[in-house]
Amino acid sequence: MGIDENNSVFKKIKNDNHEQIVFCNDDKIGLKAIIGIHNTVLGPAIGGTRMWDYISDEEALNDVINLSKAMSYKSSLAGLNAGGGKAVIIGDPKIKSEKFIKRFGEFINDLNGKYWTAQDVNMTTQDIVWIKEKSKFVVGLPKEHGGLGDSSSPTSLGVYMGIKSAVNHISGNDSLNNKNVLVQGVGNVGRKLVDHLLSENANVFVCEINSKNIDAIRDKKVTIIDPENIYDSHYDIISPCALGGTINIDSLKKINCDIIAGAANNQLQNDNEVPEELNRKNILYIPDFLINAGGIISVYHEQINEINSKKVMEMTELIYDKVNDVIKHSEKNSLSTNSSAIQLAKDRIKENSKK
Ligand code: NAD
Repeated sequence: MGIDENNSVFKKIKNDNHEQIVFCNDDKIGLKAIIGIHNTVLGPAIGGTRMWDYISDEEALNDVINLSKAMSYKSSLAGLNAGGGKAVIIGDPKIKSEKFIKRFGEFINDLNGKYWTAQDVNMTTQDIVWIKEKSKFVVGLPKEHGGLGDSSSPTSLGVYMGIKSAVNHISGNDSLNNKNVLVQGVGNVGRKLVDHLLSENANVFVCEINSKNIDAIRDKKVTIIDPENIYDSHYDIISPCALGGTINIDSLKKINCDIIAGAANNQLQNDNEVPEELNRKNILYIPDFLINAGGIISVYHEQINEINSKKVMEMTELIYDKVNDVIKHSEKNSLSTNSSAIQLAKDRIKENSKK
């Protein structure tokens, strides 16, 4: 008989050589979670927990596989001694309770520090604090609980640095004075990015679907763009800071810009046709997992017990040079910036695996 290769879980994790996938189950409390540990060559795997009402276990497994791998690349590129991991809890976030989250915290603790969790989609700061009561292997805690607090400040700084580095590559200097920049999504990260851009007299355009978040920036010198007309004009830079998947074959028919550089995770719909189309349109794309590393840099410092915001910001500023390295590598090797970033991340892991 043999194994049906099409349904093999091992086939899924073999492609990217995942180290470990842990299935957590507690029938009594209705908790189903999967923890994906992609790689721990550089250090313990770090990455957030997201809760999502997946349509199938398989969808959840695919998500944790992709997300944990991306965390390995993000930490490797940022120069951290951390590996990649992620956890997903399967179900409607409404079923969460203190008991439920604490039970999940016990599962995290069972791994004894091979995986450190943090906050991601549909998880709150309160959830993180509850997990902490069951396990020390959790980061991204509020300042009053000994952590470094909200990571959107370092994340927005990293995106700003990445934008400047990309502009420097195209214009020969990194000034944003008079550059037209569209920020898509002005939540925690986008709002702070707007301040960085305005400090350099960029012309800032904002597209946002939540009226409360528009109101929060109305007093600033920005032009509000209707979501319907988001790609109607030419921008020097588009900065996706809302959701993933916004750079796809359809949107690229309309997008007219020189640089795409933003915080949103998984911006590209895929890793082959979309980078090719970006190249054809002569758009310089700065990979999200390179430019949005400020958050992981912050939680990593908690993990190594260096509660020092200044150090976090200094390390985040290095994203400027890392963006330059990726652009140079892509030009030298005729690769997309996305492929170059993955290659450089993998190279660092490979070098360290020999040690
Ligand atoms: P957030 O939820 O605070 O902000 C997202 C904003 O995007 C919201 O205001 C939302 O209304 C808006 N939005 C959603 N869909 C939109 C659309 N179609 N058009 C315009 N606006 C839309 O999230 P955040 O913390 O600011 O993070 C932004 C992105 O960066 C997310 O994709 C997140 O995963 C990623 N990211 C965040 C961090 C961090 O430290 N917060 C770190 C790495 C990556």
